[in-house]
Amino acid sequence: MHIGCPKEIKPQEFRVGLTPNAAREAVAHGHKVTVETNAGAGAGFPDADYKDAGAEIAGTAADVFDAADMIVKVKEPQPVERKMLREGQILFTYLHLAPDPAQTRDLMESGATCIAYETVTDDRGGLPLLAPMSEVAGKLAPQVGAWTLQKANGGRGVLMGGVPGVGPARVVVIGGGVVGTHAARIAAGMGADVTVLDRSLPRLRYLDDVFGRQFKTSYASAGNTMDLAREADLIVGAVLIPGAAAPKLISRAQLAELKPGAALVDVAIDQGGCFETSKATTHQDPIYDVDGIMHYCVANMPGAVARTSTIALGNATMPFMLSLADKGWRQACEDDPHLLAGLNVHAGQLTYYAVGKALGIDV
Ligand code: NAD
Repeated sequence: MHIGCPKEIKPQEFRVGLTPNAAREAVAHGHKVTVETNAGAGAGFPDADYKDAGAEIAGTAADVFDAADMIVKVKEPQPVERKMLREGQILFTYLHLAPDPAQTRDLMESGATCIAYETVTDDRGGLPLLAPMSEVAGKLAPQVGAWTLQKANGGRGVLMGGVPGVGPARVVVIGGGVVGTHAARIAAGMGADVTVLDRSLPRLRYLDDVFGRQFKTSYASAGNTMDLAREADLIVGAVLIPGAAAPKLISRAQLAELKPGAALVDVAIDQGGCFETSKATTHQDPIYDVDGIMHYCVANMPGAVARTSTIALGNATMPFMLSLADKGWRQACEDDPHLLAGLNVHAGQLTYYAVGKALGIDV
């Protein structure tokens, strides 16, 4: 199969769909790989790395789309990219179609077979192509929270780990899933006093079993959440209710109960955010103040560490990408129901029930 990887064109996107290592494996499997020039530059992969891996470098995205049987990307195709897709071509990338009727219509009109990273599943009911980005965002949360807490950034001026004779920062993580667990581990590693809240008792049991004394756990009733929030220097929002907007767990009025200069890092901002006062920000202008409480609400946190994120995503996508290339999409999906769960659009038809329900399109 001929695999193509264009340069990402969404603003502030520095990741790339194919790492040189993934390209090397595809070539070793007998496939041809074409990568747009500078596609990997933002993630620290120059064209030379792809050439070494046996890939060809193309001058434009159009060259890649024209030549390839399968396009491998990171972000959903932008309108100009959607125009270049054609019938029978495979598109393998994040799509997030439910809130995006224009993209859904264009992908259906293209006739392409579109497999979305975010709906591929695994044996344990997880989402293996979303998890790496949650791991990255979770590990970043205490790092950006610590920075937000610095006085010059409007924060309380509290050091995460304290020093001998001065206690550590108190960190509260709301939601103990992938993001929350990684956030708690890093905050605890920085020496902070950490408590993780979750509504799932099995999850709290798991965290207690695995992490023991590294951090405390608490059931996420509204009362417990506010009791802990009042004492916190840093609060990380990491909840997810699949398929729904994030619940608002701290209202604007409740900000007055928090410590002045406390930091809120709302990782759940991509689902609308779990604090009433959260609104999406960018890496260029990541924080803002509401009533003396500092908010960090970057919707694309993994973009801050594009190289780590690219490699982490590539590790997760590579087996699926190779299976699609080796067997063709139909056989690959027949052999693997988890990959089939990623199929969102095929030959003009929407094939993913939840997207159809959200957009009122027959599936
Ligand atoms: P996850 O499903 O692994 O974990 C979510 C956890 O929240 C679950 O354990 C669930 O029991 C818990 N929960 C649900 N409602 C709760 C409530 N009311 N109180 C306390 N806990 C509650 O999800 P995840 O992968 O950890 O993702 C968390 C959020 O981070 C999602 O909104 C995801 O979209 C977002 N995210 C954002 C970025 C970014 O760049 N901003 C990157 C990755 C993930």
